[in-house]
Amino acid sequence: MNQVSKIDFIKAEKLKEKPDPDTLQFGKNFTDYMFMMDFDGENGWVNPIIKPFESITLSPASFVFHYGQAVFEGLKAYKTIDERSVIFRPEKHIARLNASCKRLCIPPLDSELVLEALTTLVELEKDWIPEKEGTSLYIRPFVISTEPYLGVRPSHHYKFMIILSPVGAYYSDGQLNPVKIYVEDEYVRAVKGGVGHVKTPGNYAASILAQERANEVGYEQVLWLDGKENKYIEEVGSMNIFFKINGEIYTPKLNGSILPGVTRDSVIQIVHDWGIPLHEELISIDDLYETYQKGQLEEVFGTGTAATISPVGELKWEEHVMTINHFETGEFAKKLYETMTGFHYGKIEDKFGWIKEL
Ligand SMILES: *Cc1c(COP(=O)(O)O)cnc(C)c1O
Repeated sequence: MNQVSKIDFIKAEKLKEKPDPDTLQFGKNFTDYMFMMDFDGENGWVNPIIKPFESITLSPASFVFHYGQAVFEGLKAYKTIDERSVIFRPEKHIARLNASCKRLCIPPLDSELVLEALTTLVELEKDWIPEKEGTSLYIRPFVISTEPYLGVRPSHHYKFMIILSPVGAYYSDGQLNPVKIYVEDEYVRAVKGGVGHVKTPGNYAASILAQERANEVGYEQVLWLDGKENKYIEEVGSMNIFFKINGEIYTPKLNGSILPGVTRDSVIQIVHDWGIPLHEELISIDDLYETYQKGQLEEVFGTGTAATISPVGELKWEEHVMTINHFETGEFAKKLYETMTGFHYGKIEDKFGWIKEL
């Protein structure tokens, strides 16, 4: 541990056995250590510490259980092909964490301290970063409001924590498998002026019912339309969405209810770099269907930290079924996936400065 660090450290007595990298499931295994820091109204953020991963004790009256004042992030560390440990765009994720804090009236975090906490924790746990291509160490920073109080106002006490979970390859056979997506026309995820543009647990709680109903009829995820007119395409489950139409790329423009994905931003920069026209604009589901009927909808894919790129093979909207690219992964999605993972695993030079090496 760094001598000048403000971060305290408690050593684990015994380390866990690492799980089998071939059968890793998402979000089930946690590493030996976690980071924790507390906030109270008088002292601000205090007591940063890395200590053994363990349960925490909270009052049943804790604010977070009743009013959901909480935010989180999700990012990944990778082991490159030449054995370096790297984190993908941590500064961008920390900036978004602070944007989420602001919307939820959570006191801001010191970005530099959070970066130090992240890098120190991942460095300490670097043997937990699985080595097989496609695998990674998922990093989950989050803030919860902990004051035992049942009145509605900002909590005076918080905990910021970082936990780590080794995850298997999203595509187990290395092939990108297209998903079937249900265009949700009854429930909505977010509205302008609400919290859809920040990562707060309530957005997910509100989305589970629609997700369940889509699963029941054989669809893996839900495509959300805007909350006002049920007309404009917003995003998919926990991914942003892109369309390839007549050789050009389209994605809904950020409007205050769409989550600004870091993968979305990365893909946009790559597409610009390739010199391919990219349009961030309002895209209505009717127009998309018309495009499909004319045979111009060439590819559809989602972007997010979990899958990186997720090709869409089928979209069901009302009574219409759109089969995209014969339910096969398109060349463009494949090339983007190879480029993004090329950055992750150190196979492509980091020309955008996205890779934080430990
Ligand atoms: C996290 C998230 C995304 C994807 O963001 P990335 O930064 O690319 O992982 C997209 N939509 C929602 C609702 C999310 O919570």
